[in-house]
Amino acid sequence: MGYPELSQYLGMQHGKICRICFCSRGDIQKDGIVISYNSFGVNAAGVYGMGKTAVHEVGHWLGLRHIWGDAYCGDDGVDDTPRQASYTIGCPTDIRVTCGNAPYGDMYMNFMDVTNDGCLKMFTHGQKERMRGFI
Ligand SMILES: [Zn+2]
Repeated sequence: MGYPELSQYLGMQHGKICRICFCSRGDIQKDGIVISYNSFGVNAAGVYGMGKTAVHEVGHWLGLRHIWGDAYCGDDGVDDTPRQASYTIGCPTDIRVTCGNAPYGDMYMNFMDVTNDGCLKMFTHGQKERMRGFI
């Protein structure tokens, strides 16, 4: 499923998508994203109700890892994202320095963190290039 088909799929299947990302690029029958209806758009409750879970999962589908690299001070394989200790909960507003990433600190506003939807705002240029490489 390419990007145009994915966009159409997300629009047509609104409410039937689950929060789990299937990134089976080798098997076209399993290639895509499934997000639970209660984790998407207006159906989602609370701090994840803005649909950004779908943006995060599309990021995975297009080759991105979590910004913390799924390990303490891990590496997501993108040159312009800082290492950070772990995922971020809530919606911080301060600079959080971990893993030697001063002076800017953790990039908790990145779609590949798990911060509240209202705080997720960006992909880096490196992440965009990686995603474009998968299309
Ligand atoms: Zn994820």
